[in-house]
Amino acid sequence: CGIVGIVGDAPVAGRLVDALKRLEYRGYDSAGVATLESGTIARRRAEGKLGNLATKLGMLPLDGHIGIGHTRWATHGAPTETNAHPHATDRVAVVHNGIIENFRELLTDLAKDGYRPTSQTDTESVALWATRELDRGANPELAVARTLKVLKGAFALAFMFKGENGLLIAARHGAPLAVGYGATEMYLGSDAMALAPFTSRLTYLEDGDWALITPNGVTIRDGQDALVQREQMVSQASA
Ligand code: GLU
Repeated sequence: CGIVGIVGDAPVAGRLVDALKRLEYRGYDSAGVATLESGTIARRRAEGKLGNLATKLGMLPLDGHIGIGHTRWATHGAPTETNAHPHATDRVAVVHNGIIENFRELLTDLAKDGYRPTSQTDTESVALWATRELDRGANPELAVARTLKVLKGAFALAFMFKGENGLLIAARHGAPLAVGYGATEMYLGSDAMALAPFTSRLTYLEDGDWALITPNGVTIRDGQDALVQREQMVSQASA
C-alpha cells in the first residue's frame, strides 16, 4: 500500500522504515525492505506493524546504500511474512501497490519455463517475469519495458537489480508515485509525505510513465516508451 526507494550514498534500511512510517496512515498488514549487500539482494520482512520490521533489522541489520521498501495491504495471498514485499529472485526485487489482474496467466506461462512462485501474491509474477527477461539476456531497462507490456491492472511498481548499485526503476499505472531529488541521492515514494524527510523537490510520475532513477537524476518515459520531461515542483509537505 506504500512504496519507498532510495538510490543513496549511505545506508538506507533505517531511512526506508522511517519513510514507510509516514505512509502508515494508508493502512497495512505487513512490511519489508530490500537492499543490495555487496551487490546481492537481501530482504527483511515482517507481519504486522513497522516496529516488527525495525526489530528484525535491529537483529539482522542491512548496510546497503540502495533499497526499496513496502507496506502491504494484502489483496492476493494472506498477510504473512512469505507474502510480504519485496518479492525477489536472485536477480531482481520488486515492490508493488495495486493488483496485477492477469497474474494467473503470467504464472502459467512462466511455469512452462520452470519459473515458480514461492508466495501466493499477484506481485511475484512481476518479479518472475522480469527475471525470465534478464535470464534471456535483457538489461534491466529492457527487462522492465517488456514486463510492463504484459501486465494488466492498476499498479505502482519499483524494481531493484542484483549488481546495479545505482539504479532503481519505477512505474506508475493507476497508483501514484513521486521521484525526489536530493543533493547526492535520489528518492522514490508513493507521495510527498514519504519523501518529506529527504527532500521537498520532486516530480510526480504521470499515468503510464516509468522512470530510471540513478544517482545523477531521473529519466522518464511514457506508456509508449517515448522520453518525456515532467515538471519538477517543491512540495509543501513537512518533514
Ligand atoms: N496485490 C499486492 C499484494 O496483495 C499488493 C497489495 C498492496 O497494494 O499493498 O501483495
